Amino acid sequence: MLISYQILGGVKITEIIDEINKLKKEKNAIILAHNYQPKEIQELADFVGDSLELCIKASNVKDADIIVFCGVNFMAETAAIISPDKKVLLPDNRANCQMADMVSLEELKQTKADNPNLEVVLYVNSRAETKSEADIVCTSANAKKVAESLEGDKFIFAPDYNLGTYSARLSNKKALIVPEDGHCYVHTMFKEDDILKAREDYPDAKIVVHPECDEKVCNLADYVESTGGMVRLAKDPEIKQLIVGTEIDLATRLKRENPDKEFIPLRKDAFCLTMKLITPEKVLASLKEEKHVVQVDDKIASKARIAIERMLELS
Ligand code: SF4
Repeated sequence: MLISYQILGGVKITEIIDEINKLKKEKNAIILAHNYQPKEIQELADFVGDSLELCIKASNVKDADIIVFCGVNFMAETAAIISPDKKVLLPDNRANCQMADMVSLEELKQTKADNPNLEVVLYVNSRAETKSEADIVCTSANAKKVAESLEGDKFIFAPDYNLGTYSARLSNKKALIVPEDGHCYVHTMFKEDDILKAREDYPDAKIVVHPECDEKVCNLADYVESTGGMVRLAKDPEIKQLIVGTEIDLATRLKRENPDKEFIPLRKDAFCLTMKLITPEKVLASLKEEKHVVQVDDKIASKARIAIERMLELS
């Protein structure tokens, strides 16, 4: 893969990459990275994708012993749940997702107890213990499909309010969302004014936003897509200039894959800070010292696995 020439702490990045590649072979490891990872990580990874693609990839990894997961903790936990025979490493164990911690196990259990007839959909951006209370997991790429697959016309959804209402709208069902204020601080930065200004500044461009954005923002955009959907949209020959309403490093991937097109972040401050905790040096240290091992309690993992596999069967 293309590697940028940089100096990191006095060491050439090419030397770090060489060492990572050597260790990967020695330890039979694979590196998976989310679309929001910094450029250097996207370039050194074996596979870059959205949450659903990474989930599918992790479930299909047959011939590796170690998965180094460059993303945030719930993603690495999901990989550990669906690939229990692999050692899953998170290069920085502070890499969390604020949204994933917004629904508590107690709140979810209480909502289930109060609504025993409703099925429970957990956004993949949630912790393993709450996933273990779900009937099915979804990602932003398949939220509509998952909602449509449910028998009833109402379901419990956690923890992202915007994705919950989006999946309910698209499936013509009702969602009881817990908590009522679950959100991603990056995607809720985008406001209607950002779209209006982008239309003025770039009248010929198309605008795509992520379904974690507010409904009013989604309504003003040309497309609402998961990051995987944005990657596919960017390859459309009709698209020449695209305003991208999601975390800033998705545009990095779009530009790398479509160098002759223009991708403009809807906001230049849309950074997911914990995604940026992963660096090539930490990936190297992670492989060398086999840290930080992601462990999920067996009972929790086996319950959560059922909900994740039910989603994967739909994909
Ligand atoms: S972008 Fe938002 S939802 Fe995604 S990992 Fe960061 S905080 Fe969580």
